[in-house]
Amino acid sequence: MAWFSREKSGVDKAGEGEKRMRTEGLWLKCDGCSQIIWKKSLDENFQMCPQCEYHFRLDARARLALLFDGGAYQELDAGLTSTDPLHFSDSKTYAARLSDMRKATSLSDALISGWGTLEGRHVNICAMELKFVGGSMGTVVGEKITRAVERSLDRRAPLIVVSASGGARMQEGAISLMQMAKISSALMRLDEASLPYISVLTDPTTGGVTASFAMLGDLNIAEPGALIGFAGPRVIEQTIRQKLPAGFQRSEFLLDHGFLDAVVKRSELKAYIAKALSFFCD
Ligand SMILES: [Zn+2]
Repeated sequence: MAWFSREKSGVDKAGEGEKRMRTEGLWLKCDGCSQIIWKKSLDENFQMCPQCEYHFRLDARARLALLFDGGAYQELDAGLTSTDPLHFSDSKTYAARLSDMRKATSLSDALISGWGTLEGRHVNICAMELKFVGGSMGTVVGEKITRAVERSLDRRAPLIVVSASGGARMQEGAISLMQMAKISSALMRLDEASLPYISVLTDPTTGGVTASFAMLGDLNIAEPGALIGFAGPRVIEQTIRQKLPAGFQRSEFLLDHGFLDAVVKRSELKAYIAKALSFFCD
């Protein structure tokens, strides 16, 4: 019987393993349409599914490379790190968690701040990194965005922040919540100076990030299908004792209900931002 033959010898198994290893990582299943797609075709298509345009998540470096001309930019404030103000500890110490994250991502915290040009115009772009403690906002994220705002003021350049975040960083407690006020007041100064701020919300943008700078743009635009919200759907359902509508907290739903200005495909994002900046600045 064919289905017993596999156990016959170790040679077949080793052969299979080898075959698996050689093809590993070349193909993946799309979360949108469940089709098997060639990874290379994703790389050539802005990490969007060629079949259904499902947007796979993009890390901060790839995001900046996509938006800055020629993928080139000057990284700023790269050395800022959290001082662990509460000496916090849960399943492991916050200090150990940060150290692990730094090794895993080669980043000092959950945001990269870049200076360069977008279709020829000088801009500050901050991109959040979801892989670093869930893209959470602590003192470093707060300080980096605030400094980017100040640079925008000094250089009279627009600011773009690309959010991808689980919200405030609980390991920094109330100090992380203070970043909401700090960034918001910095953005107000940008507004008073008539300099544009464009917020790009990507999957997922939640919690204190949604409740502050992600929704304070002169333009708030999102990628298709992104989860955007403050509290999670289960908490809301239990609080209001009602079933939530389909597509709740997704970009398209939020656009229909006036929370967003546009939903823009990743392949068109750079051109869209450039056009918006021309409208604001020229
Ligand atoms: Zn797909």
